[in-house]
Amino acid sequence: MEKDQLENNNRDGIRESLWQPASLSQTPQNHSTEKGYDVLIIGGGITGITTALMLQRAGKQCILAEAKNLGYGTTGGTSAHLNTFLDSTYPEIDSDFSKEASKMLAEATRSVIEDIKSNIDGLNIDADFEYKDGFLFSQNDKEDEELQQILESSQEAGIAVSESATNGLPIPFKRALKFDQQAQFHPIKYINGLATEFERLGGKIISGAMVENTTFKDGLHQATAKDLIINAKSLVWATHIPPGINLLSLRNAPYRSYVLALTLQDGNYPDCLSYDMKEPYHYFRSHEIDGKHYLLIGGADHKTGHEDPVAAFNELESYARANFKIATIDYKWSSQYYVPVDGLPYIGQLPGGDEHTYVATGFNGNGMIFSNLSARIISDLILGKENELGKLLSPSRLKPVSGFTEFIKENADVAYRFVADRFGAKLIESTSEIELEEGKIVDFEGEKLAIYKDADGVVTALRPVCTHAGCIVNWNNAEKSWDCPCHGGRFSVSGEVITGPPRKELEKVDLS
Ligand SMILES: Cc1cc2nc3c(=O)[nH]c(=O)nc-3n(C[C@H](O)[C@H](O)[C@H](O)COP(=O)(O)OP(=O)(O)OC[C@H]3O[C@@H](n4cnc5c(N)ncnc54)[C@H](O)[C@@H]3O)c2cc1C
Repeated sequence: MEKDQLENNNRDGIRESLWQPASLSQTPQNHSTEKGYDVLIIGGGITGITTALMLQRAGKQCILAEAKNLGYGTTGGTSAHLNTFLDSTYPEIDSDFSKEASKMLAEATRSVIEDIKSNIDGLNIDADFEYKDGFLFSQNDKEDEELQQILESSQEAGIAVSESATNGLPIPFKRALKFDQQAQFHPIKYINGLATEFERLGGKIISGAMVENTTFKDGLHQATAKDLIINAKSLVWATHIPPGINLLSLRNAPYRSYVLALTLQDGNYPDCLSYDMKEPYHYFRSHEIDGKHYLLIGGADHKTGHEDPVAAFNELESYARANFKIATIDYKWSSQYYVPVDGLPYIGQLPGGDEHTYVATGFNGNGMIFSNLSARIISDLILGKENELGKLLSPSRLKPVSGFTEFIKENADVAYRFVADRFGAKLIESTSEIELEEGKIVDFEGEKLAIYKDADGVVTALRPVCTHAGCIVNWNNAEKSWDCPCHGGRFSVSGEVITGPPRKELEKVDLS
């Protein structure tokens, strides 16, 4: 049976991911925060926890504040492939940055996989880590050409890749590349293991602490969450995207990606990671949990708040059925990632932020790798060490020309949505026109409202203006949330912030 409509959801959507049952095992305790800390890390995903552990190991006294529970964000909705090749391909990095940048990233990505393996081995974490071959395959002439460039640039960058006679899947292809020593793991079991070690070393984790405000005075940050004040010398926004309106909201575009975990009639599960070259591309891998095999298929990505999420799931399911003999679809979930305008993440000092304020964002679909690089770069910045990669990925870097084009395109789209979505809501005379478990932006008694009707017919009305930059939110009927098409802020049916850069909830409207 498909798992959705989770009652106590511990992820930022209502659909349960394959990893979620494991996240229930981690119940971080609340701690006293009276004294000051060296570092406050905000966000309990893979970036926050890896950074916190690295700094605690280096002798810093750290505290991690998570709005909900560890793994609540995209880390709980990822597909957890570990790759040495990136969504921005090496030919793109060669031309938009430099060949030197490609070499540096190739070496760094390889070393991250080793680092994760060594954490898992060293801490005895049962995180289902396995090395796998990774295949990238073309299906037409245009993709063939691109594949050839990827082969050449990747080899030049030092990646272990070669031509392959198989793509590891029962899907027809023209040419395929094999990337050696890729890997996969269970992201929630992994972060739970790191969190346990972090606490063993004296680090503090506070869950249920949404940081609403921060100030900086006399060399000290003060962060305020509900009923809680935390003081620290350095502050790390490990929130996937930093809150508020800043340069990085403009340089990252929010996207959603969809994943199915299914069982196969013939039991013939691919023993690899594999990727086609469509836009958006499909990704494939298998995972065994409690003796049961699953095939994970992902794709159907689109900009958040721009397309119909139910249609995206349907499209992915049709694609899966066309290529595999499916027995059951057990899990179906979607999650959010951020595409940086120039192709590489932004890791380091927050531009325009207070001193000693760090950020890690723009990971595209490679956050399992970039989270670890973020931890290294931010730790080095805090510890006063040189980090060459930190210079390349600095959030204050100047935009290359290609990034500038994307920057204009993304922000023109934001401007368009800001204006266009203010018109054209459906005029309704009564909330009876809204179906059960449906949300709609409507014109009701002269006011534009976001209305949701639950399974019992109870109606919640909200003002549909995103509290981040004022765009109009759209209904996501697959994850039952209000999603902002501009910067990816997402809100629950009762208006609570569930992800993205806003920190204030949507205003409630009393219809009575
Ligand atoms: C469907 C999908 C598949 C993917 N597959 C892969 C893959 O195979 N390989 C790969 O490398 N990458 C993949 N990615 C990308 C990767 O999953 C993410 O980049 C990564 O999980 C981001 O981790 P994070 O810790 O930075 O952010 P998150 O996991 O989103 O964590 C941020 C945390 O911050 C908390 N938070 C936010 N605001 C506040 C606040 N004000 N106060 C306190 N806490 C706050 C949130 O509750 C959340 O728990 C995928 C992404 C998607 C969407």
